[in-house]
Amino acid sequence: MAFFSSDIKTIDDLFLTTLRDIHYAEKQISEALPHMIEKAKSRPLKRVLQAHLKEARIQIKRIEQVFRMYGAKPRHIDCPAIDGILEEAVDIGGAVPDKRVIDAALIAALQVVEHFEIARYATLIAWAKELGRNDCAIVLQQNLAEENAVDRKLGVIAASEAR
Ligand code: FE
Ligand code: FE
Repeated sequence: MAFFSSDIKTIDDLFLTTLRDIHYAEKQISEALPHMIEKAKSRPLKRVLQAHLKEARIQIKRIEQVFRMYGAKPRHIDCPAIDGILEEAVDIGGAVPDKRVIDAALIAALQVVEHFEIARYATLIAWAKELGRNDCAIVLQQNLAEENAVDRKLGVIAASEAR
């Protein structure tokens, strides 16, 4: 996302542009998650990722709902940042013999994905409130809560697998 492309002049423009950015990111994430589920070795990790894939699909619907509430058409813009983060996550080698190493690498990569999403949603919520759109903030808050929950679960799995 280019924050300072010529068509961004107001907080309102920033809000919509960032909404398009996270819309794209969520779509890419839901396409990348099945590959990561396939690579994950432990059952708890697979389970968390499968549940989060379902959530990601619902999150896309919520973002589209916010577009409509805001009177804008659901659209997305490319986000090279999330593309790079996901590329690293999907690249994690299946040839590594130690299962724990694969899971540890997957969790590390996924936490970057979650932290990206957390940053985007936190910003969007702050801007929605600034724009007097608490209704939009409430919907986005649901997505943020899910990202935070997954981030915590990944941390717990990482700690238990490291033992
Ligand atoms: Fe998400
Ligand atoms: Fe997520």
